[in-house]
Amino acid sequence: EEEDMPPKFVKQEQQIKGDMAEKVLVVGGGGREHALAWKLAQSPQVQQVLVAPGNAGTAGCGKICNSEVSVSNHAILAQFCKDHHVGLVVVGPEVPLAAGMVDDLTAAGVPCFGPSAKAAQLEASKSFSKAFMERHGIPTARYGSFTAPEEACNYIRTADFPALVVKASGLAAGKGVIVAGDREEACRAVMDIMKDRAFGSAGETVVVEELLEGEEVSCLCFSDGSSVSPMPPAQDHKRLQDGDLGPNTGGMGAYCPTPQVSQELLQQIRDTVLQKTVDGMREEGTPYVGVLYAGLMLTKQGLKVLEFNCRFGDPECQVLLPLLKSDLYEVILNTMSGKLVSSAPVWHQDSSAVTVVMASAGYPGSYKKGVEITGLSQVQDSGVQVFHAGTALKEGGVVSSGGRVLTVTAVRPSLESALQAANQGVAAVGFPGAVYRRDIGHRAIAHLNPDRRGLTYK
Ligand code: AMP
Repeated sequence: EEEDMPPKFVKQEQQIKGDMAEKVLVVGGGGREHALAWKLAQSPQVQQVLVAPGNAGTAGCGKICNSEVSVSNHAILAQFCKDHHVGLVVVGPEVPLAAGMVDDLTAAGVPCFGPSAKAAQLEASKSFSKAFMERHGIPTARYGSFTAPEEACNYIRTADFPALVVKASGLAAGKGVIVAGDREEACRAVMDIMKDRAFGSAGETVVVEELLEGEEVSCLCFSDGSSVSPMPPAQDHKRLQDGDLGPNTGGMGAYCPTPQVSQELLQQIRDTVLQKTVDGMREEGTPYVGVLYAGLMLTKQGLKVLEFNCRFGDPECQVLLPLLKSDLYEVILNTMSGKLVSSAPVWHQDSSAVTVVMASAGYPGSYKKGVEITGLSQVQDSGVQVFHAGTALKEGGVVSSGGRVLTVTAVRPSLESALQAANQGVAAVGFPGAVYRRDIGHRAIAHLNPDRRGLTYK
């Protein structure tokens, strides 16, 4: 019984297991990386977690501390890891993966978790991932891929889809997708991306695809190159305001698991998307090792892949890792050594996790930095975990330093109690002008209580 209890964030970091203990370095500085460091620090096999560059939440907290080592120069990073006896590097964001951090560190003899640059193409090139899905019969929206704007516009004028989406093929920090109101708008988007280079070189190729309608879910798995081990399904909330109104953001909150994805559907996603992708990558000579994230649309015509990400999502990571019962350090080592089948990760059952993002006033537009944050130590004692995102230390206090500032996470026996606890956590911490949603999980709550549909965020 005790064993099965989910963490309520009171659990202390485990004692270190003598000489076996390793130093781990986490690359990145957002809420996802704070969660990765927090979970890795719970391993008795981990002596210390360095986070580069990290944030105020990872600046000297138990086993966790920040490092100023350069992460853009892979040779410097590899030498640093050797000099400081770092036994494992875990990469949070997509940009270093696409830039070949795993290839370079591995070649230098430093174990590094994540896909190779070639495998990370699944995220870094939408034209690659669409063609890959086509080659392997993985369900996705109908599309065309273009390097000449005139051809893209021709396709837009003649495609018999009711509505269209235009995407920069390369990495654009989640901003490179334009849902067009009509065909003229779609063509203008093509011109913005290709001629005016709105997303720089990420827009040298564009993907035009049919607009899909339905509910979006995030299904992630660990992949050791041949097998997959799915994580519980999660859902992000991209829009700024309650009721899914306002502009798109990097994500304003997430919850896990999503009751909309039944065991049966998850099995189908595993077979027809995740395993098929990993099989296809292996067959093509670019085995996929790491975390594979499928962004899916549940349409009336069945499930379709919107995108692949080659790493944990932010904020999905902040609800997934608190539900992971296994030791993340061991899971990563098993994933890297092809042993996922014999030692599959174990998850807390019968618990839900909710994370609420607190963003700066003005986000996702321009915002002020350096705003003082209060209440952090009080909330930490209340069974709620605050994962820092855009925060920094200033004169001993914590101040904002980015658009998304904090992610307040709670794990409870039900989704509704987790939401309530996370919302209470949000009320206890604060900074002037903080923007956040109060309705994370509203679709699941409506799904579970159809009579409350539409009332959940009032
Ligand atoms: P992507 O980076 O391709 O996942 O796109 C980012 C977001 O744009 C997704 O999470 C969806 O909300 C939306 N989106 C992308 N492609 C489509 C599509 N074909 N139909 C509807 N919405 C889409």
